[in-house]
Amino acid sequence: MGRIIAITNQKGGVGKTTTSVNLSACLAYLGKKVLLVDVDPQGNATSGVGIDKGEVDQCIYDILVDDVDIRPIIRETTVENLHAIPATISLAGAEIELVSTISREVRLQKSLREIQSNYDYIIIDCPPSLGLLTINALTASDALVIPVQCEYYALEGLSQLLSTIRLVQKHLNHQLLIDGVLLTMLDARTNLGIQVIEEVKKYFQDKVYRTIIPRNVRLSEAPSHGLPVILYDPKSRGAEVYLDLAKEVIKNG
Ligand code: ADP
Ligand code: MG
Repeated sequence: MGRIIAITNQKGGVGKTTTSVNLSACLAYLGKKVLLVDVDPQGNATSGVGIDKGEVDQCIYDILVDDVDIRPIIRETTVENLHAIPATISLAGAEIELVSTISREVRLQKSLREIQSNYDYIIIDCPPSLGLLTINALTASDALVIPVQCEYYALEGLSQLLSTIRLVQKHLNHQLLIDGVLLTMLDARTNLGIQVIEEVKKYFQDKVYRTIIPRNVRLSEAPSHGLPVILYDPKSRGAEVYLDLAKEVIKNG
């Protein structure tokens, strides 16, 4: 059965989508069969693996809200071994529409179970909120990757995330684990980054990945080409570090 991992943090701009796309692509590059599930209405993970959102008629919205079969919605991407379930802006309405739906927290879990055995890893890109879309992702997952930006206030909001995780563990998904906290966008030229690393390690201890993601311009350029960095510029520092992260994730189980 494929291991389901959600990339989550309700803060925007911390590197969730960059990590979802590049971790998925690097796992696939290492020979794993991977499904990337876009659960953010912005659909940046969708376009990041080369899917034109304008051509998508059915997406994750239809799975969550209208309970349609997951199989025909899965698409190929620019990456070998990597499939994706796209998101479009239609998903923006789901948060509200799900409120009055039966089994609203477990819809993603139920659908993913039908295809889980076809993959080694299923990676879910979460939206920047703790609403029902994120609850669906946490409920469906075996483990979480929490990206934390190496910036002032890095730990801000994390206690709220952790209490949401505890609620999901208690009521919806006893198995849910934190696979790791990922430090992102480190600017090696400043001392601030070093301070943040120490602060986060003090708080999360051995849950912090050894791999730290630096700021790398290739990582921000790659999405506009519809490519993960491992294809856009395989020799870049960005490709190197996400490959290291993929190896750590594989080692963790
Ligand atoms: P989130 O999904 O948490 O909102 P994103 O992954 O979309 O965050 O990242 C926010 C912005 O920062 C994007 O423009 C992305 O290209 C850029 N970015 C993310 N990680 C890096 C990095 N390591 N180096 C440079 N730019 C990055
Ligand atoms: Mg995002």
